Amino acid sequence: RGKWRRVVRVLKELEEDCETSVGRLKQVVDAMAVEMHAGLASEGGSKLKMLLTFVDNLPDGKEIGTHYALHLGGTNFRVLSVQLEGNRSSILEHDVERLPIPQHLMTSTGNDLFDFIASSLKEFIDKGNDSEVLLGGRRDLGFTFSFPTKQTSISSGVLIKWTKGFSIEDMVGRDVTECLQQALNRKGLNIRVTALINDTVGTLALGHYQDADTVAAVIIGTGTNACYLERTDAIIKCQGLHTTSGFMVINMEWGNFWSSHLPRTSYDIDLDFDSPNPNDQGFEKMISGMYLGDIVRRVILQMSRESDIFGSGSSRLSMAFVLTTPLMAEMHEDESPDLREVARILRDTLGILEVPLKARKLVVRICNTVTRRAARLVAAGILGILKKMGRDGTGGIAGVRSRSAVNMKRTVVAVDGGLYTNYTMFREYLLEALTEILGEDNAKHVILRVTEDGSGIGAALLAASHSSN
Ligand code: ADP
Repeated sequence: RGKWRRVVRVLKELEEDCETSVGRLKQVVDAMAVEMHAGLASEGGSKLKMLLTFVDNLPDGKEIGTHYALHLGGTNFRVLSVQLEGNRSSILEHDVERLPIPQHLMTSTGNDLFDFIASSLKEFIDKGNDSEVLLGGRRDLGFTFSFPTKQTSISSGVLIKWTKGFSIEDMVGRDVTECLQQALNRKGLNIRVTALINDTVGTLALGHYQDADTVAAVIIGTGTNACYLERTDAIIKCQGLHTTSGFMVINMEWGNFWSSHLPRTSYDIDLDFDSPNPNDQGFEKMISGMYLGDIVRRVILQMSRESDIFGSGSSRLSMAFVLTTPLMAEMHEDESPDLREVARILRDTLGILEVPLKARKLVVRICNTVTRRAARLVAAGILGILKKMGRDGTGGIAGVRSRSAVNMKRTVVAVDGGLYTNYTMFREYLLEALTEILGEDNAKHVILRVTEDGSGIGAALLAASHSSN
């Protein structure tokens, strides 16, 4: 009996430490808005980098013609072409090809990598029979490059550092667009790289193309990030910045957000300590698909240390990241009365055999607690952005508060990423929290819209809307 009490205590402590009351979430909303302000006020003023993207107009549906896009984000890259007909409601016709990057090119030279990419693009174009290019006409291309880059214009940016297994030293500090452009030229392709963007910005562009009330985009996949449309005069750290629209998209890099109001557990602290980037990406480590499964694993491990309800201790349970977030979601969403899926995953993945039903139910509660916290924190983050934009119904944050009555404007947030699109419970908890924080009336005006493939299609759209033709 005593051992069961100890295990239940572990669960209770977890639930208490993950507590996300509406009051606490509102503090997170405020903290996000305040940090956004700080990050815009000065370079290094906040953990939020609030990077300039130089994207100052979003596609409005009038774009026409064929445009290309490349997305280099990890071990794969994608090539696509989009045909636009100048009518927002017309269906975008697009062809996509996903190709693996050969391992040796990830640590080779910039020329080798970009020559390979340019060849693949050339093959793709040849297959597509694009008569315009074949006859020597020019095409625009948008390049989605999911590595940290310091942008210097809409179509140029310098690589800060490689991540995700890439290590091509001669590229660091160089202009990424120029490297691609030169490779395209070497292949004799008459294609101009007119936009260099981050994947959240692509999602915002596609979202805005589909619905003009879209003002922000959030990605919740392996990692998490967000971007939104900011007034140029609010970007204080960049004096004299001027755009014709008066706006610019800001890439928040919100995975690195931190606030003392975030409900943190000992498992989060250990996970961070064991990670290759301690003290970095704190928000992301509580939220994104890379980590949720591992938080759950750590709680089960703690329970197995306190008692033998999970058998005599399995060595697999100590292996970081063996329990992935999709597996965690399967356990969480197991609807069989005897929790058969939970038993299967505990056995096959964690090597824990013969777990009594009572203990399987505990596992489901752990999954629920970890996911619910993550989803509710994302809701608070999104509302922090809307608060900064004065679109949360309260009239913005101190200093820019308008005294007049504020009517909620219809506000759309484009959302993408495997965690949001595949994990139903996560999505439901997120929407529930939005309504709790905003109140039912205001919540009606905020729409989260799944915007898939924005990282690719959005780049092609931005190439079109920033074409110098
Ligand atoms: P990425 O972010 O890696 O570019 P995605 O947006 O497709 O790609 O997100 C993939 C991530 O989404 C996975 O790493 C995983 O954590 C999460 N994910 C995918 N499918 C599911 C699922 N069924 N349940 C929960 N999480 C999932």
